[in-house]
Amino acid sequence: MIAEVIVDIATSELDRIFDYTINSVPVKIGSRVIVPFGNRKILGFVINIKEESTLPNSKLKPIIRLVEDIPALTKECLDLANYISTKYHISKSLTLRLFLTAEMRKGKVREKFHNFISLNLDEIAFNEVVYSLKKNAEKQKEVLNYLKANGEALQSELGEKFSPSTVSTLIKKGYATVKKVRLNRTPYKGVLETKNKVELTSEQKNAIEIVKNSSKPTLIHGVTGSGKTEIYLSLIEECINDGKTAIMLVPEIALTPQMFSRLRGRFGNLCAILHSGLSAGEKFDEWWRLRSGEAKVAIGARSAIFAPLENIGVIIIDEEHEQSYESETSPRYVTSELALFRAKYNNAKLVLGSATPKIESYLSAVNGEFSLATLTGRVNKKPMPEIIIADMRNEIKSGNVTAFSKALKYELEETLNSGNQAIIFLNRRGYSQKIICRECGYVAKCAYCDVSLTYHRYEDTLKCHYCGATYKMPSGCPDCGSVNINYSGTGTQKVVEDLNKLFPNAKILRMDNDTTQNKEGHYKILKEFGDKKADILVGTQMIAKGHDFPKVTLVGILDGDMSLYFSDYRASERTFQLITQVAGRSGRADKKGKVVLQTFSPKNTVLNHAIEYDYNGFFNKECSLRKASHFPPFALILRLMVESDNDEKALETLKNVFYKCKEIRDENASEFIYFNKMKSPVKRINNKYRYQVLARIKTGNDEIVDSFYRVATEFDGAKVRCYLEVNPNSLS
Ligand code: ADP
Ligand code: ZN
Ligand code: ZN
Repeated sequence: MIAEVIVDIATSELDRIFDYTINSVPVKIGSRVIVPFGNRKILGFVINIKEESTLPNSKLKPIIRLVEDIPALTKECLDLANYISTKYHISKSLTLRLFLTAEMRKGKVREKFHNFISLNLDEIAFNEVVYSLKKNAEKQKEVLNYLKANGEALQSELGEKFSPSTVSTLIKKGYATVKKVRLNRTPYKGVLETKNKVELTSEQKNAIEIVKNSSKPTLIHGVTGSGKTEIYLSLIEECINDGKTAIMLVPEIALTPQMFSRLRGRFGNLCAILHSGLSAGEKFDEWWRLRSGEAKVAIGARSAIFAPLENIGVIIIDEEHEQSYESETSPRYVTSELALFRAKYNNAKLVLGSATPKIESYLSAVNGEFSLATLTGRVNKKPMPEIIIADMRNEIKSGNVTAFSKALKYELEETLNSGNQAIIFLNRRGYSQKIICRECGYVAKCAYCDVSLTYHRYEDTLKCHYCGATYKMPSGCPDCGSVNINYSGTGTQKVVEDLNKLFPNAKILRMDNDTTQNKEGHYKILKEFGDKKADILVGTQMIAKGHDFPKVTLVGILDGDMSLYFSDYRASERTFQLITQVAGRSGRADKKGKVVLQTFSPKNTVLNHAIEYDYNGFFNKECSLRKASHFPPFALILRLMVESDNDEKALETLKNVFYKCKEIRDENASEFIYFNKMKSPVKRINNKYRYQVLARIKTGNDEIVDSFYRVATEFDGAKVRCYLEVNPNSLS
């Protein structure tokens, strides 16, 4: 027999299928194998088994060994890999890597076992053995007596108590036996398990019926607190009862612990968590529990869409509007497209949920490509928190130059006095935005990227938020020597400092990328705040998401209009989403919530739709704008990036790439709305010069997209990187 193998080497030249002979090894489709390759031995994936090769047998080498008995990849995984590879023009070996953790690929982790030792002697035999043991075998007698008194024991503990060699001697003699038990390195041991099950409302039941009766994906649109999660839990429960499995996707690590605890509360060990924050061992064990069928529900961020489950009944994408569902580094893919593939493959239901659906998704619902289930209010009938607009122009006119409006200060005081909690949200992180010389206008910039640096108060350093480089804070201006260098803007650190001055008795926590570097950073901060060990939580985007803190009655949004000015066609959508999400953190339980939204543009229509919680109004307005200006979802943006640490080479490649693209354009001129080449807005990141060919085309032109992909593949190399982005989240 012959195995078709894809070797785990990421270079595109080697992206071929190689034939190997199968000798005595019990190889299956999807198995990981070690194969000879040149004069090396490397990992490969068996993607097919066939009778004969087109090559003569003498030219073929045999597979050396199998990595594990159960094939790591299912047939579905291989088909999905194929789909990804074709759709996004990603090499087959890179695609297959998506299904396994990096550590697994490198063979650095494997299953961990515990050895349990027990007596292998009945009463009579025990006595015979103990009496026949020689005087110098006192230790062995002790161990036998210990086992008799205590039943089975861990080999490692026995070894420590007595001696490892004594224990192995007893095993060798057959007096004791070893039982290997797989050890599960379960993540989030401390996660609270909430068990209460609720009687669903008629709206929730109706939504479930819509999902079950629909052959299309279903969009569940409902404000935070409208009971979407309970719907997910019910759908998953029905799947499990039907002997099926489920995948539940959440946007970010920060969100996972809370959702995970709700799932665990309901389904216990049947659910497994998959995400990059786990240790290699934990990741492997959770993956394996899913693969072996021990766990039936996979929960995790976007990569959980690769969960090794079979017979899937439902796939849920919670907070479907989140950008994190689109991979923005290689390999680039759109999670919902993969989810749709798997849903079709398994004849499973696909459910997307959000309080603020993506314009694309809602349009699909309006067009009838998706089914729509709408939840009209919060389960507890509590009104959405009132959003008060604070006009920051007036604050400045009246001499208030702090980051806090009078309204926010007043509400904060009320909140603290009544023993409740507040969340203060801002878009930026770090102590301040930029360092500017007041004499000559010098702005501190990263040496490797074309962006300004951010001052971080506690470390007293400047950091680049693009590449992570850190710099010492200069004592004077490097250009003119003036000591009059200043911080402009406000960051989380500065806000905490100012709050400390305003409310010296309040305990304040900060949550942003800087305070949550390690695995459990998020969880710890959220837990502390949830346990009411602090009064105010200050943070960036990551506190906007689905956390449920019953004691929070006030949310302050410091820079409500910041994101309106991003040079991105989705700026309005982002702003609407952000305000709605952050506002949803206030007044979740029995107390009425309030939100203070600070802005310099109080008349802006996006803000006004947001404070009215008027999604439909916003959607209609935004749709007509996008339609008129030919932006997605009424057009496709194609951005072909050219990057190199050599500026000239990049420019030269850009010219060639542009030439090729222009041929495509000329053949399809009527399909193009916009077409040009230029420097990228951020001209350099991590010492790489960046150029782009930017195009906007009418939708439904998959061949043009494919042609652009082929151009990217043709020019992509080690010296000059070339890749295509379709409707990218960021155009920086
Ligand atoms: P969402 O996911 O839309 O934010 P959740 O499902 O988390 O909403 O529901 C919000 C709160 O209401 C949760 O505390 C949840 O336990 C509770 N809840 C949801 N559905 C019901 C119900 N039918 N009866 C009582 N409480 C419910
Ligand atoms: Zn200067
Ligand atoms: Zn940098």
